[in-house]
Amino acid sequence: MVSFEEARHLVEQHAGSVCPGAVETVDLLAALGRVLAEGIVADRDFPPFARATRDGYAVRAADLAEVPARLEVVGEVKAGDWPAPGVCSVGRGQAVGIMTGAPLPAGADAVVMVEHTSLADQPAGSPAGQSVEVRRSVGADENFVPRGAEARAGQLLVDRGRRLDHVGIAIAASVGKSRVQVFRKPRVAVLSTGDEVVEIDATPGPAQIRNSNSYSLAAQVQNAGGEAVRLAIAPDERGRLRALIEEGLDCDLLLLTGGVSMGKYDLVEQVLGELKAEFYFTGAEIQPGRPVVFGSCGADTPVRVLAANPPSARTGVSAPHKKYFFGLPGNPVSTMVTFELFARPMIEALSGMTPQRLIFLRGRLKSEIRTKTGLKRFLPAVLSGEFENAEVELARWQGSGDIATLARANCYVVIPPERERIEAGEWVSLLMRSC
Ligand code: AMP
Ligand code: MG
Repeated sequence: MVSFEEARHLVEQHAGSVCPGAVETVDLLAALGRVLAEGIVADRDFPPFARATRDGYAVRAADLAEVPARLEVVGEVKAGDWPAPGVCSVGRGQAVGIMTGAPLPAGADAVVMVEHTSLADQPAGSPAGQSVEVRRSVGADENFVPRGAEARAGQLLVDRGRRLDHVGIAIAASVGKSRVQVFRKPRVAVLSTGDEVVEIDATPGPAQIRNSNSYSLAAQVQNAGGEAVRLAIAPDERGRLRALIEEGLDCDLLLLTGGVSMGKYDLVEQVLGELKAEFYFTGAEIQPGRPVVFGSCGADTPVRVLAANPPSARTGVSAPHKKYFFGLPGNPVSTMVTFELFARPMIEALSGMTPQRLIFLRGRLKSEIRTKTGLKRFLPAVLSGEFENAEVELARWQGSGDIATLARANCYVVIPPERERIEAGEWVSLLMRSC
């Protein structure tokens, strides 16, 4: 039995040693949620020209040392116009009408906002030929972004190993990448065990339950960037369980649920032992999820290279020699929590993602919590309130089999093992539920 932090660090250490799969090229929007196998580099300076950030007039700041001042309007630049020097530039005592997003003409060193100016008339077309009265001074360099101030041509904007979100998509789009290289998604086998568990379209007998874990896990796997491979339900019987575990070990990672507690028919560890598994931990001081198991199989087995991925096609990839597995407890909430805490970082690593630390948020506790010491607890809770006034309260649950309560919760309160009582009003750590 290890502490939560030890267990997490063990997983992170092993995750640091795995190799991502082959590289594939996909359309930009298909890359949402995928992990970049190439860095995204600026194809030119950002911004590519000194870009006005206000509507107004491009001016020389020195001309506005004393205000009000009257300047001669000698032209106008809209977004998309190019003010060729010599054709459109700002001399002493002059101004050029300018719009947000337009290039600053030569000679100007500031933009004065239109709100601080008045034209003699308000013409529909260009104001050129008129004079503008400016009521406020501006500092040099105000209200525009110099060329290259955000990034220089050739600069790395998004690292390889980053999972693409809408920001990464925007950056790829802005450098003209309509297709990007991403890592293949790792295939993650999901194996539910238990004689009482039946497929979800079956009518359960009086003592049977439907297999919700394979589905929650498949959803979490997808959400973490993997491709879930749902296997048949394994009965609590050695032979069939072993065959299904072996099938699962063909994938990049195997997730088992159920059968890891102390019961007479909890056979998962024994069968993995028969398969010469190495265990890194068998139990963590947490609730829910104490019986969670982490290990690997096949360190010494010969390398098996998938026919679809011959070595020549596997850019920077070494063939897998070791298959990791997690034995997650069967109680549905335990399965979900232990996935988030331990399996997710391994899936992220297998998908080529740069390791992420687990960060808890903070919220103010609405009502007192009393519990027992000894385990780090992740208890379903409801985070409510608005804006800066987040408040959190434990959901009243029936233990780690209670998914009905979990459906009404949106986070977990994290209670350190040494705390017996937490007062209302205290700040507590929160693990947000990812969707
Ligand atoms: P176990 O970890 O095998 O002792 O199972 C703990 C509890 O989780 C038992 O009440 C099981 O019936 C339940 N359980 C196990 N596997 C599943 C599953 N695939 N879907 C839903 N509940 C499960
Ligand atoms: Mg069981």
